[in-house]
Amino acid sequence: MRQLKAALAFTAMAVVLASPASAQRNNWGTLTEPFHIIDNVYYVGTEGLAAYLFVTPEGNILLDGAIPEAVPQIEANIAKLGFKLSDTRILLNSHAHFDHSGGLAQLKKDTGAKLYAMEGDVSALEGGFYLGSESVKTMSAPPVRVDNVLRDGDTVKLGATALKANLTPGHTRGCTSYGATVQDGGKPYELLVFCSATVAANRITPPLQYEGIIGDYRETFVKAKTMKVDIPLAPHPDFFGMLAKRDKAKADPKAPNPFIAPAEFGPFIAKAEADFEKTLKERTEAPAKPAAN
Ligand SMILES: [Zn+2]
Repeated sequence: MRQLKAALAFTAMAVVLASPASAQRNNWGTLTEPFHIIDNVYYVGTEGLAAYLFVTPEGNILLDGAIPEAVPQIEANIAKLGFKLSDTRILLNSHAHFDHSGGLAQLKKDTGAKLYAMEGDVSALEGGFYLGSESVKTMSAPPVRVDNVLRDGDTVKLGATALKANLTPGHTRGCTSYGATVQDGGKPYELLVFCSATVAANRITPPLQYEGIIGDYRETFVKAKTMKVDIPLAPHPDFFGMLAKRDKAKADPKAPNPFIAPAEFGPFIAKAEADFEKTLKERTEAPAKPAAN
C-alpha cells in the first residue's frame, strides 16, 4: 500500500513537473524533516512548500495545504513531531493558489477540521481555480468548502493562540498574512506568515487578473511597511531562508533562535515592491502580447 501510494505520488508529481508553470518547482514534493520554529509553532511542510502547525491544548491550527501530492508528507510530519492529525481543528490558507491550497480538500477530509478563509479567496477555493485564469487546468486545485469567511483584521482563536488575519491582497484577491504574538525566553515576539507579493502568473496589465489588482498590490506594500515583524515566515520557505535557519538551530540549540530575525522583513518588502513596479513598468511599455496564462 505504502509503495502503491508512493508510486501514485510519484506519477502525480511527474504530471505536476511536466507543466510549464512548475518546471522549476522540483522540491515542492520533497520530503523534509519537520521542526520546531518557536513557542507553539512548528514546520510540517515539504522542502519547497510550507505548512505551519500551531499547537494548543484545545487542538491545532494548520496553515496551508501545499499541493495534493504533499498531503501524506504533511500528515506524516505532524505525527513525527508527536501530534495527532485528528487534533487539527482549524485549517487556514495563505492564498488560493494550487501550491498552497491544493492539499486542503484532502486535509479537511482527513482531519474533519473547519476551513477559515479570507472572503476574496473564497470563490477560488470553492471553485478550485486560479481567479482570472479559470480555464487553466494546470493551475487548478481540488475544490474545498470554506466553513468560516474571514474579513481583514479578524482573529482566529484556539486555546491561547490568536492569529490575526491581515488582508495583503494582490498576489491573490484574498491573500492573507497571519500574525501572532509568540513567546521565547520570556519575551514576546511578533510572528508573521507573509502571504506573498510576487507577480507570479498574474496579469498586471489588461486584461487584468482581477479588477483592482494593481491598487491591491500597492496597498499591501503600504500596509506591510507599517508591520513590525520579528519572525518572518512565508508559504515558500525560501523567502526567508527557512531551511538554513533550521540547520542553524539544529547545529547550536543553545544559540539565540535564528527564526527571530527582525531585520529581514523591511528589506524583503522593499525588494518585493521594487520588483513589482519594475515588472509593471516593463509590461506597460512592452508591446501587447498574448498572456501566458
Ligand atoms: Zn501564490
